[in-house]
Amino acid sequence: MSRFAIEPHPSPVPAEERAALLEAPVFGTVFTDHMVRATWRAGGAGWHDHRLVPYGPLELMPATSALHYAQEVFEGLKAYRWPDGSIRTFRAAANAERFARSARRLALPELPVADFMDSLAALVEVDQAWVPAGPGTSLYLRPFMFASESFVGVRASHEVSYLVIASPVGAYFKGGLAPVSIWVDQRHHRAGPGGTGAAKCGGNYAASLVSQEQAYAHGCEQVLFLDAVAATHLEELGGMNVVVVMADGSVATPPTSGTILEGVTRSSLLQLVRDRGLEVVERPVELAELLAGLRSGAVAEVFACGTAAVVTPVGRLAGEDFDVAVGDGRPGELTMSLYDELTGIQYGRLEDRHGWTQRLV
Ligand SMILES: *Cc1c(COP(=O)(O)O)cnc(C)c1O
Repeated sequence: MSRFAIEPHPSPVPAEERAALLEAPVFGTVFTDHMVRATWRAGGAGWHDHRLVPYGPLELMPATSALHYAQEVFEGLKAYRWPDGSIRTFRAAANAERFARSARRLALPELPVADFMDSLAALVEVDQAWVPAGPGTSLYLRPFMFASESFVGVRASHEVSYLVIASPVGAYFKGGLAPVSIWVDQRHHRAGPGGTGAAKCGGNYAASLVSQEQAYAHGCEQVLFLDAVAATHLEELGGMNVVVVMADGSVATPPTSGTILEGVTRSSLLQLVRDRGLEVVERPVELAELLAGLRSGAVAEVFACGTAAVVTPVGRLAGEDFDVAVGDGRPGELTMSLYDELTGIQYGRLEDRHGWTQRLV
């Protein structure tokens, strides 16, 4: 029995309208009929009032703490419709554990892993008609937690709200994997030693937005951040990890040593690389080494990875004093085959030999 009490939507989106919305949803714009809510209070009450309610506006006082001091964390994962009609999620327990680590870093209460899993199952069960079935489509799940106490003062909130909303999403790249251009920001940083880089929190994203704007201004789709100490080593993109494929077939990626987010996609892809008998090296990667490697041919492919797009091939790296092509304008061979293998597992087309998927419905 789920501990999330269901309050059904009195007027859910009619089936015909829903079908039209599921046709070609633009990422993050369409939401299902319901959402999860639970509340936490300091002083012993803990987590209570676990509910599944109609999706709709929140009523917040202007003094709501999160709006002023950004005490907030979130997660992002997907539910996939399998050929047998079941709906599965991918390594959701890893997201639950990361959500708890992020909460700890932001002085928020941890949500028990079981409640996180239960909340996803409850929402996907009730809104299962919203899980699209087309190739590359899924239901994006967005659990988040924020300081909901109405209090303008700097301390951890005494009231916290947990929510999960769900959004049907289409294939990220409609015409197949297309390489993107990356702007390397050599001036701004998203995270520093001892900061919140390893937590999935809105504040990290806020810190990345001016860089993202600069990337657009330079004709790039995404931004790559360097370490905040010397600005010489790769860290990650605004919302994706970065992986470098060497011409000898080995793979290098920056270590998760506190300033970057430990991506579930990153760790899954690295495992698939190891399964192929290729070498994975988690080590600091210098920008100078990468640029030299691209020019000499020692670096064969570069890709970014995260739940939303799974794998994003990088076709160009630009910065204040360089502009270098990666590969020949097409996605790299290993990049493509890792994308096919991981999505094959997520959608039930390939054997799940690591036990990464769980049935929700
Ligand atoms: C969420 C996120 C990622 C990717 O993590 P996944 O678990 O693979 O989705 C990478 N970097 C940042 C900053 C993120 O917020």
